[in-house]
Amino acid sequence: MMKKSKDWSNAFLLLSFFWMSFENIAHTDSNTESLKKTFHELVNGNKRYMTDTPFHKNENKIRRKELIKGQKPNTIVLTCSDSRVPPEIIFDQGLGEIFTIRVAGNSLDKNIIASMEYAVEDLGSHLIIIMGHEYCGAIKAALSTPKGKSTGSSDLDYLLFTLKPNLEGFDNRTTLQDPSLHNPVIANVNKVTHQLIERSFLIHKKVLEGTVKIIKAIYALGSGRVTFWDTEKF
Ligand SMILES: [Zn+2]
Repeated sequence: MMKKSKDWSNAFLLLSFFWMSFENIAHTDSNTESLKKTFHELVNGNKRYMTDTPFHKNENKIRRKELIKGQKPNTIVLTCSDSRVPPEIIFDQGLGEIFTIRVAGNSLDKNIIASMEYAVEDLGSHLIIIMGHEYCGAIKAALSTPKGKSTGSSDLDYLLFTLKPNLEGFDNRTTLQDPSLHNPVIANVNKVTHQLIERSFLIHKKVLEGTVKIIKAIYALGSGRVTFWDTEKF
């Protein structure tokens, strides 16, 4: 009798395990679908922008009033402060759709990580785009300022100090060979993404769970095209 009851309990445990696994798979699938949808909205928005056919949706009085109740931006974009790279215009998105963080050279520090964690945890953002851009002045300054030389501003020195380790293998000659700085910009985005995962336990955990995805991108000033990489799952 004892054995029979133990058999039943094992069967129950096994069933529960399969059910939980099934639920996890179903949950992960719905996350992936929802992330894909967010990503494709950005890709389509960028296409509209590139072809001069933007919708300019959600930029009106109704939307402003709607958002007083709160915001739920699906996407976080970390990009450069450069006036030629405004994410809402580049992706043709309206109010309340992108949680934008802009700093010269799209570099990372504590306040920026905290801003991203707030958006992920409190606002439910699930797609993070780290976007560099060609002809980036901050990257150029980091490459052309000799190591240890002060710019005369401790804050500017701090920014260049943050960027320099991300640009290993490049120097002032790179800016002459390719003024668009395509490769160093990509190297910086790769490093910033890596540092974000390394420094934010909260974001790393959600990336592992599949509830948050980080995508790397570079913006071309002339064509307006955003090129993404490491998007194999999309
Ligand atoms: Zn820049």
